[in-house]
Amino acid sequence: MILFKNVQIPQAEKWLKSDILIEHGRFEELSPNIDRSIVKKGEVVDAEGGFLLPALIDPHVHVREPGFDHKENWETCSKAALKGGFCTIFDMPNNKVPVVDSITLLEKKKIALKKSYVDFGLYIALTDENIEEIMKEEVQCEICGVKVYLAHTTGGLIVKSENALLNVFRQPKPVLIHTGGVQGLERILYFYEKASIQVPSLPILYICHVSTDEEVKLIKKYKKKFPNIFAEATPHHLFLNKSNYTHYNSVLPHLAQIEDSESLWNGIAEGVLNVIGTDHAPHTLDEKKGKNPPSGFPGLETALPLLFEACLDGRIKPTDLLHLTSITARSLFGIGEGEILKGRRADCVLLKEGNFLIGEDGYVTKCGWSPFNGRKIKYRPVMTITGGTTAYRSGKFYKRDISFLTMHSIKR
Ligand SMILES: [Zn+2]
Repeated sequence: MILFKNVQIPQAEKWLKSDILIEHGRFEELSPNIDRSIVKKGEVVDAEGGFLLPALIDPHVHVREPGFDHKENWETCSKAALKGGFCTIFDMPNNKVPVVDSITLLEKKKIALKKSYVDFGLYIALTDENIEEIMKEEVQCEICGVKVYLAHTTGGLIVKSENALLNVFRQPKPVLIHTGGVQGLERILYFYEKASIQVPSLPILYICHVSTDEEVKLIKKYKKKFPNIFAEATPHHLFLNKSNYTHYNSVLPHLAQIEDSESLWNGIAEGVLNVIGTDHAPHTLDEKKGKNPPSGFPGLETALPLLFEACLDGRIKPTDLLHLTSITARSLFGIGEGEILKGRRADCVLLKEGNFLIGEDGYVTKCGWSPFNGRKIKYRPVMTITGGTTAYRSGKFYKRDISFLTMHSIKR
């Protein structure tokens, strides 16, 4: 049993002060004054000045293990997730040996089940030849989606076959696209539209890391015709641009102009961009300082403090924040719930007020750095609860049974 006293929770467009009782893994009671003496076994958390949000879900993470374990592994990555307020991560397939069939998929699942501290799902990558493999029942029941690379990435998976790009929309799992820019976006939208003539019920098309105004405009146009198109923004494309970050700035898509970032914020307000994915893509600082630095930033530990600040500053509404970081992704990937309501599974994160600097308490990600290092923040996550149990609190991690998630595979 956990009782939060005097914590602020999101309620419609406002924040409401309440007490919250968690029991048997669920939110049991939400009311202004719950007597602390009812907690016989468990703890009372005095949360005056703090905020409680649904724990986040990140549909776009590169855990790196197996293959690139020197950058990150399942233990360090899942702990970084918990520290950042995430209870669930979905892992991308571009490992050293890419996940393109049931053998590589099951090998990764085995490692993750042993080491992960958070619930997780796995993607398979589309190649020019593996659509029949992806369609197999034994693969479909293990994946949360299919990742399609139309442009260069770590691991070098680029799909060229038109048949593959058309037939991927014949399988039911969400199709996630790394477009590589507006040309790639136009290309996949062409295939999606073409498939719509032959396939009665198209799967979700999820556009990863939208970064430019041009893409926002194109997605806005197509979303009117195809409601199953969803688009993702990353914290680094929202908060960083070519002018304000130049250090270890190799990332794909590249950081854009400040006007593009503004367009992303507007895209969020207009419902064109629907999900925040961190695209947590760790590389070591030595690699980033090298001659040909690899592309990608770590992001799991910094997303929530940055976004919460934007919410308090009025850049995003509280309800939009919840949809962007939890509700929409849960619905797209069929894992349900995710709000702080009586009877719901208690996955939540407590944010504490203070004068903090990003990185001052170190990093849990194995790569050990962040492009946001040294930024001032007013709130940071201090406690993450998954399934009613404390999984992270003030620098300490607690291992619990975790779930392997596939779309619509579990009810919680
Ligand atoms: Zn990525």
